[in-house]
Amino acid sequence: MNQRLSAHFTLAEMTASATASRKGIDNTPPGPMVDQLILTADRMEHVRSLLGGHPIRILSGYRSPAVNKAVGGSTNSAHMTGQAVDFVCPGFGSPAKVAAFLARNLKVYDQVIEEFGDWVHVGFGPGRRMQALTARKVKGRTVYTAGIAP
Ligand SMILES: [Zn+2]
Repeated sequence: MNQRLSAHFTLAEMTASATASRKGIDNTPPGPMVDQLILTADRMEHVRSLLGGHPIRILSGYRSPAVNKAVGGSTNSAHMTGQAVDFVCPGFGSPAKVAAFLARNLKVYDQVIEEFGDWVHVGFGPGRRMQALTARKVKGRTVYTAGIAP
């Protein structure tokens, strides 16, 4: 699991899940998924250098279907295909600052979402929708609005 996927990211980081550990759910990716995670780690190297080379802390990368369900992820979550990462980069700034910067400067992405003021979700799925969104909890439900709230 300490396999290095790229210069700065390991398989362990890309598959870590606090919820999975707490609930004892296996989040080991199937073999072919590791190839996808190498591509995603490459994308994250690009994100890291865009953000000035500051360390990135991954909160959630790959999620097995069981883990995705346990965290209340969307049923078509790009985390399940290994194409999305939730992270923070405190050396660059707040999640809102990181998300706004990436939405402007990443050439190709599917979604950049500032989630709950706590982290940034970046999705590299094939849709390439270039969607920038802000997610907030409203009465227990996640509501998405267009753009990155300042
Ligand atoms: Zn996410």
